[in-house]
This record gives sequence, structure tokens and C-alpha cells, in this order.
Amino acid sequence: MDINRKQHEVLRRASLFLEENQREPKMAELLLQHYLGVSRAKFFTMMREDVPEDVLSDFQDALSKHAETGVPLEHITGFAPFYGRHFLVNEHTLIPRPETEELIEMVLQSLPAEIEAEPITIADIGTGSGIIAITLALELPQAVVYATDISAKALKVAGKNAERLGADITFLQGDYLEPLIEQQIKPDIVIANPPYISLDEKTLLSDTVKNFDPAEALFADENGLGAYKAISNRLRSTLNPDGGSVFFEIGDRQGKDVQRLLKSALPEIDVSVIRDMNGKERIVHGTYGMLSSDQ
Ligand code: GLN
Repeated sequence: MDINRKQHEVLRRASLFLEENQREPKMAELLLQHYLGVSRAKFFTMMREDVPEDVLSDFQDALSKHAETGVPLEHITGFAPFYGRHFLVNEHTLIPRPETEELIEMVLQSLPAEIEAEPITIADIGTGSGIIAITLALELPQAVVYATDISAKALKVAGKNAERLGADITFLQGDYLEPLIEQQIKPDIVIANPPYISLDEKTLLSDTVKNFDPAEALFADENGLGAYKAISNRLRSTLNPDGGSVFFEIGDRQGKDVQRLLKSALPEIDVSVIRDMNGKERIVHGTYGMLSSDQ
């Protein structure tokens, strides 16, 4: 007897299968839509049609792999949405998180209206797939945008994303702020979503995260604070000495510690900790007027 290949039935079975395997049932819908190669709107008009056999077989293979290993949907499709655009991602880049969209909002809101006309220099540190740098470059056409990453493989992905999305970014390979310091680039805004999970917390992460997001994108030493410390300590040599801002995405209990690190590196900085839409500490924002440019 032929199995029922009606789309709604395929979807129902797949969602149930994921649920039985303790995976998010909604993934079935997104995955099937991907293999059918149709928009979300079209997908819902096709529910009574048969799923073509080759599509069904690819879909079922991916579904089993996801259920067994937790491989994220974004690694299967090769894309992730961020701030209304689609970005290429792979095993060398962190999958964008919705919280990071709030970081973008914060940066955009922080700019005074008159800055619109003025060139402003922004540096995204540890750019990964390039989401922050590329989004800001596209949202702020007057900005000059730099992005650094220590991983050449991540920069390759970020470069492709910038090209596909038409963003003009200068990518520099190196550790955090070092490539900017070497080239004497003095950004007005430094923004980073660096690794911030302590290694002790690895066991608490889902397999989808710990086995698929790159470890260097997730974990930092010093109880998860190592990257903030390394960046903060080099800010004085990097930022525009006339004034500017730094924005860090943080883990939800790191506000005080990151505030302290920034303050001890730059005592003249004003720091605030901002909560995300779930009420969790998520962003540390530091601003300063005049900084002395000595080390
Ligand atoms: N900046 C990238 C992002 O926010 C990569 C961050 C990271 O690898 N820690 O997704």
C-alpha cells in the first residue's frame, strides 16, 4: 500500500516524529518548506497536494538527521534569518540569535539625528557570519564599517554575505581589536557579541548548540568574561579619542561584571546595562565624551 504523500499528512507525521524525539515539532514545517523550495504563503496553499517523491526522501533524511543529532535547521538549509535578511551560515559561524537584533536596534536608536549626514565609523568585533556589520552597513548607508574575526573561515562566510547583500565592509583578520589598532583605525562605535559562556556551562547547552555552533564563538575563559576583558583593555588604544560608544551583547547574569571591566579600563566611561524583551540583562552600553589618547 502506498503511503499517504499529501503534504498535510507528511507534515503531521513529521511533527509527531520530532515530538517523540524531543525536538521542536515546528522544525518539520520549516524543513519541508525548504525542500519544496516555496514561500511560506505558498506552502499553506499546497497542503492537499502530494509531496514529490524525491522531495519526500530528502526531507525524511534531513528530518531523521535532525532528530538523531540535533543538527540545526540552519545548517541543513545553509541560511539563517536576521533583521529581515537571509545570511549564509555554516559550521564555522555562530547561528544568529534573535537577541542580537535588539543589539542592532540599540545601536540605531543611540545615534543622534544629526549623525545621519555625517560619516561615522563602526567596528564589529568577532563578526562571525557578518550579521552585525552587514546589517548596520545596510541600515546606515553613511557609515564606514569594519569587521574583524580571528577565523579566516568565518570571514569567508561574512565576505560572501556582504557581497550577496550588497554591503560595503572592510574585513580584517585578527584577534578582537588588534587589526584596527595595527591599521590605526579609530572607530566611533565598537560593537561585539563575543563568546561569553564559561566552559563549566557546556553541559547545560543543548546538543544543537554545543555540537554545532563553533566552540570559539561560544566559550570564553575567566568564567565567560575573557573576551570582554580583552576587548575592554584595548579600547583606549582603539576608540575615537573625541568620543564614542561601545556595545556588548552579554549573558544574562554578566551585566555587573562587564560594567566593572569597562569601568576599570576606561574610568571616564558611562555604562548602562539594558534588558532584552524577556527582561534579561542583554546589552552593556558604554559612552564617553573625551578620552585621552594615551595608553
Ligand atoms: N557577531 C556574530 C553574531 O553576533 C558572531 C558572534 C560570535 O561568534 N560569538 O552572530
